[in-house]
Amino acid sequence: MKQKGLLYTGKAKSVYRTDTKGQLIVEFRDDITAFDGGKKDKLKNKGSYNAEASSFIFQYLAKNGVKTHFIQMLDPHRMVVRELSMIPLEVIVRNVAAGSIVRNYPFKEGMKLNPPVIVIDYKDDSRHDPMLNDDLIVALKLATPKELAAIKKAALKINALLVKLMAAQGITLVDFKIEFGRAGKTIYLGDEISMDSMRLWDKKTGESLDKDVYRFDKGDVMATYNRVVKRITTTASQKKARAATPKKPEARPAKATKPKAAAKKPVKKSPGKKR
Ligand code: C5P
Repeated sequence: MKQKGLLYTGKAKSVYRTDTKGQLIVEFRDDITAFDGGKKDKLKNKGSYNAEASSFIFQYLAKNGVKTHFIQMLDPHRMVVRELSMIPLEVIVRNVAAGSIVRNYPFKEGMKLNPPVIVIDYKDDSRHDPMLNDDLIVALKLATPKELAAIKKAALKINALLVKLMAAQGITLVDFKIEFGRAGKTIYLGDEISMDSMRLWDKKTGESLDKDVYRFDKGDVMATYNRVVKRITTTASQKKARAATPKKPEARPAKATKPKAAAKKPVKKSPGKKR
């Protein structure tokens, strides 16, 4: 596949045309921004961390019946996707109160939101992404009532799948933002799902594992992103490793391996396995 002209450039990603009909390339750049672009930096490897997380999550969702735009990775920061006509809605699903709803409404940070709360914002930087309601969405012709119902249903399904994925790694999925687009009459999940667009807390320590580390100068942003990608993507590799391991442990000779080499791997893997 050949990359052609630039179609669109956003705050952290660029979208290119390709020589294949109906397919685009999304490049995850090393740019990071917060507060409507008020804070910005370039952080080495950031693009590839977000691309890896997004690609893993899109494939996990697709395996579980969610229609996503993901096709394949070209290299660590370029993703081939189905071309969509994007719907300018930011669909935010919240499981725990944090961020803007704590600033704007009388929620206490950390309060569980059960059932999850869906908030939909109008994606328009010049208007600072104002919150919409169903009537406004329909009146603005951003989506039909039927499409809106499908979007909300998909958002809740994605939430349930992501909550499960993160919980298996000892992570609380506090909230996340997703975007959808149309290809013909079908609605697909587009954009990205990464540490930039999710709010993640370590279940044991409460530590932030997402862009809040950058927003609020909580520590080494790239070290956090690197750790989170490893944690999130361990599930699949662990499964593969398990499948490749002989099933009869008693058949293993007790003293056949060198102690040092044998000790190293299991020690590294065991915390990820349990959490
Ligand atoms: O800032 P707020 O609390 O509304 O953000 C909710 C969630 O949506 C967070 O996980 C945040 O990272 C994500 N978000 C996003 N892009 C935006 C606004 C919010 O990814 N433009």
